[in-house]
Amino acid sequence: MTIDLAPPLPPALYVVATPIGNLGDITLRALEVLRGVDRIACEDTRHSRPLLQHHGIGTPLFAVHQHNELASATRIVEALQQGERIALISDAGTPGISDPGAVVVAAVQAAGLAVVPIPGPSALACARSASGLPPGPVTVVGFLPAKAAARRKALAGLAAMPGALVFYEAPHRVVEAATDMAALLGGGRACLVARELTKRFETLHRLPLGEAAAWLQANPDRQRGEFVLVVDPAAAQAADTGAADALLRVLLEELPPNQAARLAAKASGIERQRLYRRALELKPER
Ligand code: SAM
Repeated sequence: MTIDLAPPLPPALYVVATPIGNLGDITLRALEVLRGVDRIACEDTRHSRPLLQHHGIGTPLFAVHQHNELASATRIVEALQQGERIALISDAGTPGISDPGAVVVAAVQAAGLAVVPIPGPSALACARSASGLPPGPVTVVGFLPAKAAARRKALAGLAAMPGALVFYEAPHRVVEAATDMAALLGGGRACLVARELTKRFETLHRLPLGEAAAWLQANPDRQRGEFVLVVDPAAAQAADTGAADALLRVLLEELPPNQAARLAAKASGIERQRLYRRALELKPER
């Protein structure tokens, strides 16, 4: 006989991160919470049911539609006040990151009720982790406006932003978005195209922003699926050209790339990892 000694979950809104593709990417704690709550609020029950079935979870699901998020939030607050335990999940990743959920969380907080985050996957963190970016500020832009004029205006406002930029993009807009990014942010900035993360056709490709649209167009398969674009800080352009390049070239005559990058970083104040990448590109053939 086994005795379950786990205490029941206290009443709260549990904001639970779920996979962004691979159904195995879910934490033990997330599974425990999804099993232990009374109900699960999701964006679309048809989308979330397979995940729960895959993990043998029978907790009832209900949808919080974007157009009635406020009404749903009120109902969720009332249920929590009556002692229910409710989990909030989204179609993919962490709720509230570029998807609905924030209205529900804000309403629960405003009512003075507990909100418990259960961390896990997010396309943003997944792409960032594979970008090779050095530590530093990162602006999470999320989705750019769909209309060209508004998108270009938004990009113009981001051009001088220090640090890296992270964009979510839909497949049918990724080429135009990449074209506008190159024009307004600078084609020399490096970019990571992260496509279909954690899924069968996962693609990670790093290239100058100015080449991204052509690369995507070179093969229709490259425009399918879900995308995160991580754009390096603008300072990378300075490292690609000019004084930093000249310094690196001299150092590389005598030193291996890691030492050349370390010294160039000391002299220029530019991040060592960025100079190391550049040093690998500049390294003279021996
Ligand atoms: N809350 C989610 C998160 O934590 O990442 C983001 C939700 S947002 C509505 C959906 C967008 O996230 C997609 O259009 C795509 O840009 C990005 N995304 C989600 N899953 C992805 C994946 N497996 N690979 C690449 N991008 C993904």
